[in-house]
Amino acid sequence: MKETTNQGHPKGLWVLFGTEMWERFNFYGMRAILTLFMVNSLMMKEADASLVYGGFLGLCYLTPMLGGFVADRFLGNRNCIMLGGLMMAAGQFLLFISATVFTSNLDLAKILLWVALGIIIFGNGFFKPNISSMVGSLYPKQEKNKLDTAFTIFYMGINLGAFLGQLICPIVGDVKDAGGIRDIYAFKWGFLAAAIAMVIGTMVFFYLKNKYVVTPEGRPIGGLPSKNDASDFEEGESQKAVFSKNALIGAVVAFVGLGFLFHYAFGQNIIYAVIYASGLSLAGLIISDTSLTKIERDRILVIYIVAFFVIFFWAAFEQAGSSLTFIADNQTDRNFFGWNMPPSMVQIFNGLFVVMFAVPFSMLWDKLRANNREPISPFKQAIGLLLIAVSYFIIAHNVKDLGNNGLLAIKWLILLYLIQTCAELCLSPIGLSLVGKLSPKRFSSLLYGVFFLSNAAGYALAGTLGSIMPATGDKFNKAKELGIDLQAVLDKKIVPTADQLALLDTNQISPTNPVFAGFEIHNLFEFFMVFVVLCGIAAAILFALTPKLKKMMHGIN
Ligand code: GLN
Repeated sequence: MKETTNQGHPKGLWVLFGTEMWERFNFYGMRAILTLFMVNSLMMKEADASLVYGGFLGLCYLTPMLGGFVADRFLGNRNCIMLGGLMMAAGQFLLFISATVFTSNLDLAKILLWVALGIIIFGNGFFKPNISSMVGSLYPKQEKNKLDTAFTIFYMGINLGAFLGQLICPIVGDVKDAGGIRDIYAFKWGFLAAAIAMVIGTMVFFYLKNKYVVTPEGRPIGGLPSKNDASDFEEGESQKAVFSKNALIGAVVAFVGLGFLFHYAFGQNIIYAVIYASGLSLAGLIISDTSLTKIERDRILVIYIVAFFVIFFWAAFEQAGSSLTFIADNQTDRNFFGWNMPPSMVQIFNGLFVVMFAVPFSMLWDKLRANNREPISPFKQAIGLLLIAVSYFIIAHNVKDLGNNGLLAIKWLILLYLIQTCAELCLSPIGLSLVGKLSPKRFSSLLYGVFFLSNAAGYALAGTLGSIMPATGDKFNKAKELGIDLQAVLDKKIVPTADQLALLDTNQISPTNPVFAGFEIHNLFEFFMVFVVLCGIAAAILFALTPKLKKMMHGIN
């Protein structure tokens, strides 16, 4: 029995589309309100919330290694998806409880936050790699040419979910009254909506998988590994990566050494150090494998080089849920056609624009390919980096003259998300398919692991960069109410008394400007220029490397 739609895509694709849509609803809906909840209800400083956010997202992209491994060896994709879905729903439910009890017991609320985030991290690790790999498994060898379109459709499901989550969770969870005063008790409804979405997603998958998520012959896809028929595997897929004992010991030693280096020499917190060290040691383990031919090694090096540059992209892109949300909250005129949009909802434009532009972008690449003018993937990724630098350059110039009290017009943030979405479409789906094309089959899932780890490193860097956001308008106003001239304090023109310092601290205001790489960040203009410089330099180097990378790809584009 072959369950296909008119367009020739298996019906299973729509089951995976729906499941992933609800899962991303849960993830991005929660992401929209998470940092605001930490700052407003749990009384954390914005810089700390950014660091937690970066570490959380980073770990969400570290655990897919585990989820992929457990699925391949023990549980199979299907069980891991359901396990991951239930874990994420439970995590969201704990966030709901945390956002319910914080007034009576702040310490308990914080503990619940850590436990919830921990459960979501593992849930995401079980869910995310397995649903993506099932998309690939839906297509038999002779239909692999449909994969690009399949992943474009799937990417739209991801972003339709993100859009819905970022619509509903802010509406119910990020509530301000007409005077702009936030209801700090409302966040719980956002987390509850996310939990319900995840339960729906898991149920959709549970009830529809046996009928639709099947091979063209009607056999279930992603069952227990031992029950998988040998013909479920692609040619060469059984050739698992086998590393020598020495190589594995070397990788563990490198992991520990690098972890210490990042933690003690570069001052990174343990979580960030683990993320950076795992990426590098896994990359080293694969490239040192003696079975690799020269061509294979060259191609893997291309993946590594691209993965390195992608770090800067995600570090800039993932400001959406932290610094950009804080700015939308504290220094933006959010009047959107007469409606005052909740600050956490402004990031919705990313998901919306992906849904609108994913198909036109894939048609653009098809057209260029037909005319033999399609750029190679690293070039597209350099365009992505350049575009994100441009998006921050525009916003930097719009915050330049705001001073401490002016408001940024929401249209500039919408434009930023429009440009960043075009950047994402040049870089994210392209990167995933590039890894698939360049990886020797036996290292494919591990190289996806390295690639996801570069996403994780980008998210960790996003946390660090988000934490260097200088004081926004609300801080200056609050300090004024407290009788403190914050600008003079930051400019070191007056030295605050111990009482004033304590007052600033209880109001989550830092008395000093943040510092990045030895540079003091005095205002939002300088903050945004950090992203312009980092992504601009990364884009320029990647453009310059393109001819060399083209050679190293040995005929793959
Ligand atoms: N927004 C996409 C998703 O949620 C891509 C994220 C990524 O690859 N880092 O799946």
